[in-house]
Amino acid sequence: MRFGMINTSTCVYGVIGYPIEHSLSPVLHNWFMSNYKLNAVYVAFNVHPSELKNAIKGGSALGVIGLNVTIPHKEALLGLVDEKDRDVKLVGAINTLELNAGKIQAHVTDPYGFTESLGQRKYWFKNAEVLLLGAGGAAKSVVYALEKLDVKKIWIYNRSAQRLRAFLDFCHNALTVSKVQAIDRKQLNDIAFDCKIIINTTSAGMYPHTGESLLRSDVFHDAHFVYDLVYNPEKTKLLLDAEHKGATIQNGIDMLIFQGLESLRIWTKQPLRLEAPKLKKIRHILQSRL
Ligand code: NDP
Repeated sequence: MRFGMINTSTCVYGVIGYPIEHSLSPVLHNWFMSNYKLNAVYVAFNVHPSELKNAIKGGSALGVIGLNVTIPHKEALLGLVDEKDRDVKLVGAINTLELNAGKIQAHVTDPYGFTESLGQRKYWFKNAEVLLLGAGGAAKSVVYALEKLDVKKIWIYNRSAQRLRAFLDFCHNALTVSKVQAIDRKQLNDIAFDCKIIINTTSAGMYPHTGESLLRSDVFHDAHFVYDLVYNPEKTKLLLDAEHKGATIQNGIDMLIFQGLESLRIWTKQPLRLEAPKLKKIRHILQSRL
């Protein structure tokens, strides 16, 4: 529908990942381009890790203005960029590149995406005890955001003990977040019951493993707020179990939307806004593409 608009001034943006077929970013960003009336297109690039450096240089030479970065390149790119913003240095991951006159600048918009996705619920976090499931890349962005939300305590569980240890080192040394405490499988359900807020940053429950959840279904109650970064399926087993017991639930679709919007603001230098009706519309479009 918009192809008639493409001309020699059209700005090119994209996402690099491997594999990339299931990314919703092209749908999201091309909707943004249309909504904000930008002369721009956004495409997906399937970039094998061995071609990462060439891909960035090639994109830059072709005049691509901005790229999002997804699995498995978020950390691998750290050594390939010219400049990192403060958040990238702290979180140790990249999800947005600005390719500017041969210079490559790196940003990470996941912490913003997480916080912004909470809307008014962000005020529930002050002085709260939070249980965080997972210690991967997304968990780093979430811990960084939780520290800024002024939580009281972060309990962390991860399946692999080795990764959990590395994650704690990262929290203490890179982020200087000291309110983080590791827990094991035996403590998990009791702590889940006691914490007001539970956040899943693992892929457990994500399509096609939709029967998985790290928590027993009877730990939930109506004072819980349960947030799952996974958005496919729309409600994971964790969210369904929590909802069944009266908890407030949220999936990761708004985080995806807001981290993408922040990338676009970085690239365009425009203060783009997304009012509630538009947010509802793009959320619906993305969910229909799952
Ligand atoms: P990583 O590969 O860096 O980390 C994966 C994490 O999930 C690890 O903690 C891993 O534990 C854990 N894990 C994976 N499978 C299982 C399982 N079956 N049981 C228990 N733990 C499991 O991935 P990311 O941190 O980048 O992403 C994690 C999830 O968050 C993905 O589903 C991703 O789609 C989602 N995400 C959503 C975003 C959004 O905008 N909504 C943004 C970023 C991520 P272990 O160390 O034991 O392997």
